[in-house]
This record gives sequence, C-alpha cells and structure tokens, in this order.
Amino acid sequence: MRYLILSDIHANWEALEAVLRDAEGDWDQAVCCGDLVGYGADPNRVIEWVREHAMAVVRGNHDKACAGLADLEGFNPAAREAAEWTAQTLTADQLYYLRNLPQGPLEVAGFEILHGSPADEDEYLMAALPDLLYYLHTPVAFFGHTHWQGGFVFYRNSVQPLPGVPPEHRQLRLSLRAEHVYLINPGSVGQPRDRDPRAAYAVYDDARQVELRRTPYRVEVAQAKIRRAGLPEILADRLSVGF
Ligand code: ZN
Repeated sequence: MRYLILSDIHANWEALEAVLRDAEGDWDQAVCCGDLVGYGADPNRVIEWVREHAMAVVRGNHDKACAGLADLEGFNPAAREAAEWTAQTLTADQLYYLRNLPQGPLEVAGFEILHGSPADEDEYLMAALPDLLYYLHTPVAFFGHTHWQGGFVFYRNSVQPLPGVPPEHRQLRLSLRAEHVYLINPGSVGQPRDRDPRAAYAVYDDARQVELRRTPYRVEVAQAKIRRAGLPEILADRLSVGF
C-alpha cells in the first residue's frame, strides 16, 4: 500500500494541485498531518478535496483557530487576520468538519500521523530527544507544523536528523531500517519555510520506503489570490522565497 502524506496545505490550492499532478497514479490512500487552512486564499477548495480523498486527518493549530477551538493570542497579526478571514469564508458545514478533526497522534495503518510533537500537538519539533519515543506507538510517524521537510531517526539511545530534498533534486528516498524509529516531516504543501519554495510532500510505501518530494507550482497564481482576497501582503510574498 502506498500512502500520500500531506501536511500544512494552508489553503493553497495551486500547491495541492501540483502535488496531486506530480504524484498521480503513485498512491492508494492519502493522509494529512493538519493545517488544511490558514494563510492561503482557497480554504473551501482544499477542505473539499481533503474531506473527499483523505482516509485520515489530524487537526493543526490553524484548523483549531479558524474553527474557534483556540484563541488567537499566540498568532502573529498576519496569521490572526488570515484565521479571521478564513472563519468568515468557510461554510458552516466546513467549520463543523474542522471543529471535529481528531487530535494527533492518530494511528492509521501501522504508522501514526500528528501535527506538532507526539507529546504536544502545538509544539514545534525543530529538534528531538530520545524520550519522545515514549509517546510513539509505531515505528514510523509523520508530523508537520514546522514547515521543514526532513525529520528524525531514533536508534537505541540516539537521535539523528533526517534531511529534506536538496534544491537540485526532486526527491530523496529513505529505506527504513528495522529497529529504528522514524519521525518524518513531509514538509509543507502550501507554505514551505525551509528556503525551498517548491511544494513539499512524501509518499510512504509500507514495504518500508519513504520518498520525500518537491514539486514546483504556480506560486504567482496563489499570490494573486491572496492579494485579491485582501489578506496581508507578507502571506503572498513569503511563498516566493519559501520562508
Ligand atoms: Zn502550519
């Protein structure tokens, strides 16, 4: 079975569309590690696609904020404005869907998905310590939230970082080893922050292969929609630099 692993789509339809084109015919089931909406100008379209196609989804902090499950205190002004705009733009039905997304970690089929850290859904996992292993129930887990592709591999009492796809390549294949535990970030589909503006995602084959991937998309179209919606300019600008 091959799984399309998506995270942090952030209402960027052009990026999601490019990922689907790039991965066409190469996956059986899709999952999403949260933050379907927030920042981008196409929340309705993105939610519709995820609702129809993803077998498992966990909520992200922006999903919670847009659905009124979390206050906007910790959000910067641009993120807050986008969350308010999103809440007004979504239908009652879509808000209901967002409000009822489960909290991670969520076990899917021998692997888990989560948004922030296995210990706390809102924590940014930029580094990892061996004690995180206590919170994992499967040898492979996928997370998001940082918008950085890569992750961590645990073996005995050590943790090593995993890199993302280098800028000159389109994919990076990882052969998963027995006795190791993997916490993998597919990267952000709709708002990468690892200085590579290409949309990021992963394909996981349960024969223990993971392919991290990057694909270019029509950034200027997503930017024009953000500007037309009257969302903060910085949300459009940052997409060109991937930060
Ligand atoms: Zn996010």
